[in-house]
Amino acid sequence: MRRNGKAVQKSDLPQKVCLHCHRPFAWRRKWERDWDSITCCSEACKGEYKRARRSHS
Ligand SMILES: [Zn+2]
Repeated sequence: MRRNGKAVQKSDLPQKVCLHCHRPFAWRRKWERDWDSITCCSEACKGEYKRARRSHS
């Protein structure tokens, strides 16, 4: 392990997998308040995911 610099490395950020496109995405500052409730990588995916679920049931 090496520490070079004080910047937070990308790999240090928490990650989740988008429920819609199934791609991993990393924490962003804009989500710092509701990271726990974030399930998709973007508003677009979130919208599509909700719509898909709704039309299914
Ligand atoms: Zn996504």
